[in-house]
Amino acid sequence: MPNQPDVMEKLVSLSKRRGFIFQSSEIYGGTGSVWDYGPLGVELKRNLQERWWKAMVRSRSDIEGLDSAILMHPRVWEASGHVGGFVDPLVDCRNCKKRFRADDPRIKGTPGTPEAQCPACGMKGTLGEARQFNLMFKTFMGPAEDTASVVYLRPETAQGTYVNFLNVQQSTRQRVPFGIAQIGKAFRNEITPGNFIFRTREFEQMEMQFFVEPGTDMTWFEYWKEERMKWHRGLGLAEDRLQFHEHTADELAHYARAAFDVQFDFGGSLGFQEIEGIHNRGDFDLTQHQKFSGKKLEYFDQGANKRFVPFVVETAVGPNRTLLAILVNGYREENVEGESEGRVVLGLIPSLAPIKAGVFPLVKKDGMPEMAKKIADDLRQSFSVFYDDSGAIGRRYRRQDEVGTPFCITVDGESAAANSVTVRDRDTLKQERIGIDTLREYIGSRIAG
Ligand code: ATP
Repeated sequence: MPNQPDVMEKLVSLSKRRGFIFQSSEIYGGTGSVWDYGPLGVELKRNLQERWWKAMVRSRSDIEGLDSAILMHPRVWEASGHVGGFVDPLVDCRNCKKRFRADDPRIKGTPGTPEAQCPACGMKGTLGEARQFNLMFKTFMGPAEDTASVVYLRPETAQGTYVNFLNVQQSTRQRVPFGIAQIGKAFRNEITPGNFIFRTREFEQMEMQFFVEPGTDMTWFEYWKEERMKWHRGLGLAEDRLQFHEHTADELAHYARAAFDVQFDFGGSLGFQEIEGIHNRGDFDLTQHQKFSGKKLEYFDQGANKRFVPFVVETAVGPNRTLLAILVNGYREENVEGESEGRVVLGLIPSLAPIKAGVFPLVKKDGMPEMAKKIADDLRQSFSVFYDDSGAIGRRYRRQDEVGTPFCITVDGESAAANSVTVRDRDTLKQERIGIDTLREYIGSRIAG
C-alpha cells in the first residue's frame, strides 16, 4: 500500500485553473507530453532555477556558469555514445497502433509471438517484435532537407560542458578541482512519457560537471551526494519523502563508475522516483571527445608539472520534475477551525512561492482600495505581489493559500489612522499588525532563505 496519497490529478487541475501549467497546444488537442508554464508556473520554475544557480554558481568560487547551444556538431553524439547507445527497445501494436516499452510489465507474453497480448486493446498476436528506438530528436541543418546534415536536439546539457571544458578553464584560469554548471533545455523522444510533468519529451536540466584529479573522484562524489541531498531538503521536501538509491552494476550507465539517485516519494503508485542523478563519469566523456575531435582535452597542473584528463563528478537534476515534487510535497487539504469550508494549501517555502504577498482592501470603500493599491505598487518593486479586491475577504485568502502565497496583507478600517495593516500567515493563520513603513522589511526578511 502506498503511504503517501496520490494527488496528481488534483495538481493537474489546480495547475490549469490557477495558471501554473497548461497542456501544450491545448486548443489543437494537445501535444504528446509537452507542457507550457503559465504565469505562476514560470515564476515558481524561475525561483527554483535561481536557487540552484545561486547555490551552485554564484555562491561558490570553484564553479563557473555556462550556457551552451542546443544544436551541436553531430559527432558529439557519436562520441558521447548517444547515437549508438541511447536506445530503448520498443514494441508496436498492429491493431491499436499504440507503442510500449518492451519491458512494460503490463505486456503478457513475448512480443512478436502469437500469445503476446496488447495491454491497451487486449488483442493477441498483434504486438510486433521489439525494435531499438533512439531517444534523440533529429532535425536538419541547412537550407534543404536532402542536402542538409542531420543534427540532433540535445538530450542532455552535459556534452555542451565537456566540449567547452578547456574554453572555460583557460578563460577563467580555474584550477582542478572546479566545476561548470548550466541550465537548459533537453529533448528526449521518451516512449512512455506521462505522469504530468514527471517525464516529458521537452524538459530542462540543471547540470554541473565537476572536474577532479583521478583518484580524488570518490571523495568528491561523496561530497556532492551530501550537498545535493541538503539542497533538496532546503526546498522544503519532507525528510521521509527523500532517499538515495544506489545504482546496481546492471543499472549503471556505460560511462558511470558509480551513481546514486536522489529519489522523492511522489505518492500513489508512482512512489519513490529519481529527481536527481549524481554520477562519477570518470574520464569517459573527455577521452571520447579527444578521440572523436582529435583535440587534446587535458589539464596541465602547473604545481605538479603534469598533464592529465580529469575525472568528472556530475550532478544532474530536472527543474520540471523537481517542481512537480515541490507541488506534490506542498499540496494539502485541511479543515479550518470555526469554518465550514475547508481549504487547499500549497505549502511552498516563501522563497519559492510565485507570489510573496496578496494585498487586499478589506472592503471596497473608505479609501481602502487606494491605500492597498499604493502598498502593492510599492512592494512590487521588491517582490511579486498580487492585488485583489473582488469577493469576500475569506475567499481572497483561500485563493492565495491555494497557490502557496505565504502572506496576505489587508488594509482595514484602522489602517489610515494607525498607518498599519494586518499580515496573515498562510500556515499559522495568525494575523499581526504591522506598520506600513516597516512592511517591506518585514516581508523581505520572512521570505529570505
Ligand atoms: P529517468 O531514468 O527517469 O529517465 P535519467 O536517469 O535518464 O531519468 P538523467 O539523464 O540522469 O535522467 O537526467 C537527470 C535529471 O533530468 C533526472 O533526474 C530528471 O530530474 C530529469 N529528467 C530526465 N529525463 C526527463 C524527462 N523525460 N522529463 C522530465 N525530466 C527529466
